[in-house]
Amino acid sequence: MKGIDVSKGYGIGKVLIVDKTFEVPQEKIEDKALEIKKFNDAINSVDEDLKMIQENKKDNEEIVSIIEAHRMILKDPEIDIMVNGYINNDGYNAADATNRTANAFAEMLSMVDDAYIRERVADIKDVSNRIIRRLLGIAEVDISELKEPVVLIAYDLSPSDMAQVNAKMVKGIVTEIGGKTSHTAILANIMGIPAISGCTDVVKAVKTNDIVIVDGFTGEVIISPNEETINDYNEKQKVYLDNKEKLKKYIGKESVSKDGHHVELMANVGSPKDIEAVLENDAEGVGLFRSEFLFMDSATLPTEEEQYESYKKVVEAVDGKIVIIRTLDIGGDKNIPYLDFPDEENPFLGYRAMRYCLDHEDILIAQYKAILRAGSHGKAYIMLPMLTSIGEFEKARVVFEKAKSILREEGKAFDEDTPLGVMIETPSTAVMADVMGKYVDFFSIGTNDLTQYTLAADRMNPMVANIYSYFDPSVIRMIKMTIDGAKKNNIMVGMCGEAAGDPLLVPVLLGLGLEEFSMSPNKVLEVREQISRLSYIEMQEIAKNVVNLTTKEEVIEYIKNNVNI
Ligand code: PEP
Ligand code: MG
Repeated sequence: MKGIDVSKGYGIGKVLIVDKTFEVPQEKIEDKALEIKKFNDAINSVDEDLKMIQENKKDNEEIVSIIEAHRMILKDPEIDIMVNGYINNDGYNAADATNRTANAFAEMLSMVDDAYIRERVADIKDVSNRIIRRLLGIAEVDISELKEPVVLIAYDLSPSDMAQVNAKMVKGIVTEIGGKTSHTAILANIMGIPAISGCTDVVKAVKTNDIVIVDGFTGEVIISPNEETINDYNEKQKVYLDNKEKLKKYIGKESVSKDGHHVELMANVGSPKDIEAVLENDAEGVGLFRSEFLFMDSATLPTEEEQYESYKKVVEAVDGKIVIIRTLDIGGDKNIPYLDFPDEENPFLGYRAMRYCLDHEDILIAQYKAILRAGSHGKAYIMLPMLTSIGEFEKARVVFEKAKSILREEGKAFDEDTPLGVMIETPSTAVMADVMGKYVDFFSIGTNDLTQYTLAADRMNPMVANIYSYFDPSVIRMIKMTIDGAKKNNIMVGMCGEAAGDPLLVPVLLGLGLEEFSMSPNKVLEVREQISRLSYIEMQEIAKNVVNLTTKEEVIEYIKNNVNI
């Protein structure tokens, strides 16, 4: 089968199907007593599972207490009464009755004016989904507890599923939806797991325990390969790993073109555990810390103190190098169940990132304070996502000053000179970059979003993947405007979208004058090697010509024909 190659490498392993989707059956039932028995049996069986998880994780207090709360929900008499009522009075089947009850409770709780109680909605959903899966006979898969190496096959994996993945046990990932810049793909890259997305119908085509090969270069998934094919792939894997080994000689070297032009190659991370990869690949700092994963990984809103500890860990680990921490970027394809996020027709054009944070000042202040304090242990920069105007930046800066004055009052140590920069990921900020540069401390270009907004092509939708391309001259012109705007104002300009680590675009970015490239840690050495072979003067000429081309096909063709990639 074939999909889109979203994370490079080869993986061979046994299939593990992760399918958490289900449709709640709508049929009414006749035998009410039987349905109530089914519900009670499901409750008991889920409780057994939860007890087992508690037992297995008894050293982890946090998990034990979350599961304890889930067991209490499971036995909550009010929930029991409502489910029984739906079955006895309305004749709904047990799964439907459970679902309706969970929805009713979720709706009630989300109206309560107490954040803690509102956060319980996620727990109720989690528990009711477990009951429903049990009623429908769908097995539970715990991807955080794998005993043998597997290839995960799923319709989709949520970013929070990805956060649980153990990179040592997962040899490959194949999903039916998503594209190169979906968050599943980005996290697979950071963890160095070969991955393929957009592989339609793959879930139906395999069975658990089938052997599959994931070719993260071509997007091919080979199901039940014969011995010869397995040998071929083992050989390819060897060559690939040998090449990776050769790149190690660039560890400890500067990132400099053959004619002496210096750039910074930094790494993107999603959590403190990614730091290992940053250090292993000798990145010159962290160009993007996607802080939202801390929030998605947690059952409740992380406190200032918890955030501070995570940021401090990263800042200290890179030993004086810069760590650019992005404030909470949720909405779009990233949802946080305990924050009452509305369902939206077009979430990528909706209430996301700073739009949400500016309305929830307490969340923003806690995060600013945590980052400002982490700055006292090294170099932490703050970066704001998804801005569309200078007005929004000004509002965000007022809150920033407020956070600082609270810290002064509290007498907590922090870095007074913490830079406050912005991501350029909307066309409105790219075209205003020369003006915006007067207000902000630095830019980092987010091409994943900038591409989707410039071309009006959803980054998640395989149907428009042929339109979504950062090689489109319109996107390259947006990048040029941003870099020029930064230079005019003498501020730092970097890029943290996936484009920054694409060897086909790197020569152009270098020629346009990009100063800092931030990418998945495992791409750093490859790009450092490439830049060492390129001439900055020549790439300036190349970039000038690329900007004047007409189509993305021409751009790709031109780069391939004129640069030694
Ligand atoms: C981007 O949009 O390019 C970016 C780096 O942010 P994210 O991929 O997290 O939206
Ligand atoms: Mg973005």
